[in-house]
Amino acid sequence: MERISVFDIFKIGIGPSSSHTMGPWKAALDFINSLQHQNLIDRVEKIQVELFGSLAKTGMGHGTDLAVILGLAGHHPESIPVDWVQKIYTEVQNSHQLNLANSKNISFNPETDILFHKDQSLPAHANGMTIRAFLVDENSISETYYSIGGGFIIKEGNKEFEEVRHMPYPIDTAEDIRKWCNSMQISIAQLVLQNELSLQNKDQIYAGILKIWKVMKDCIYQSCLKSGELPGGLKVQRRAKKLADNLLKDGMPANPDLFIQKIQTNPTDFKSTLNWLSCFALAVNEENASFGRIVTAPTNGAAGVIPAVLMYHICFNQNKGDEDIVRFLLTAGEIGSLFKKGATISAAMGGCQAEIGVSSAMAAAGLTEVMGGSFEQCMMAAEIAMEHHLGMTCDPIGGLVQVPCIERNTMGAIKAVTAAQIAMESDPTKALVSLDAVIKTMKETAFDMNHKYKETADGGLALHIPVNIVEC
Ligand code: SF4
Repeated sequence: MERISVFDIFKIGIGPSSSHTMGPWKAALDFINSLQHQNLIDRVEKIQVELFGSLAKTGMGHGTDLAVILGLAGHHPESIPVDWVQKIYTEVQNSHQLNLANSKNISFNPETDILFHKDQSLPAHANGMTIRAFLVDENSISETYYSIGGGFIIKEGNKEFEEVRHMPYPIDTAEDIRKWCNSMQISIAQLVLQNELSLQNKDQIYAGILKIWKVMKDCIYQSCLKSGELPGGLKVQRRAKKLADNLLKDGMPANPDLFIQKIQTNPTDFKSTLNWLSCFALAVNEENASFGRIVTAPTNGAAGVIPAVLMYHICFNQNKGDEDIVRFLLTAGEIGSLFKKGATISAAMGGCQAEIGVSSAMAAAGLTEVMGGSFEQCMMAAEIAMEHHLGMTCDPIGGLVQVPCIERNTMGAIKAVTAAQIAMESDPTKALVSLDAVIKTMKETAFDMNHKYKETADGGLALHIPVNIVEC
């Protein structure tokens, strides 16, 4: 089975969707890289992109067209300045010119060169896309990609993770975690660190994880400075700033670290702690909805749960700073990869249980780890959090990652905290449902779920709330 690193699960990128924005973006980058390797860029006259299934149905609201354009232009989601995102997209829309691979201008009209086949699906996965380059000598070259959730892509004919990774302690199931942790008497975080050490050294691992946390922390802080309407036409208002302003009373501090210090030193009660947890989750997903910089965790729609719960721990629990951040994210990442291997992290395959449910399970395990829980309690917390998301459908109104998505992150966060607290007070050897059992149940529920509830915006709230989005 695949050997997934924590850095495959947590990826720095741009909102609003891992499967509909990050995946297609990576596919477009892969396509131009392949053209570059074959020295074909100079011979390209025209590019056409075809989107199928869920990518076609909700791709417009999820920024798939924007992602494809930025990828074809050679920009990387991790490094592109956030204020370039809309600028480049608008320039291409207005000029009908695309700077392919940042090296050759070609004519490109998004309205006619990106085709949304809403009534067609490719057989292998609900999120399929084909990119075709027409060359000067009348030949063409094409590739088909599947965006399989969490920003992961597969090229038709290839398998995931073709590079062979050797990890000393292979983990495919929760039972594997139990076996390794038991035999070595170590925590999940220590086990995952041993596997990560087969890919890079400890300093690199710590630096990489702390960089991920910095993006999460900056994202929360930046969002708490912004008010007004989110883009897309639903007229959804940002709320994180209002919550933060009400809680802080005398304004936002000058940077994210002072922000944390101020929260830590402010008097708290249950209500304000709860409001902070909601504020952190709302903040990330408001940034996500406005094409901001976020960390896919394990998807973009669910990107707020893990930062919110980790920020909650940093602000309100006794903690060991960087060491806890690393342990939290190593543990959470491994739980995410269990769901990816044993079920799915794609809403187009499994509905919202695969996004918010998985992120909540990840956060619950991470929080239990840093609160001093055993590896059994971490897995119990993950199981509890997922158990109470089973069957959750995906029905984004207007195909935008806003309603119910943004608030749903607050619910995933509070369930994660509750699940961790319950696990800390429980004897996991007496638990009736194992983590492996809930992963299997989630997979079967995903198969049984009507396709209307799998990121198509054809059912649920998306069907019953009339929207009148003015295309601009
Ligand atoms: S409803 Fe859930 S799965 Fe669907 S787009 Fe929103 S957050 Fe993602």
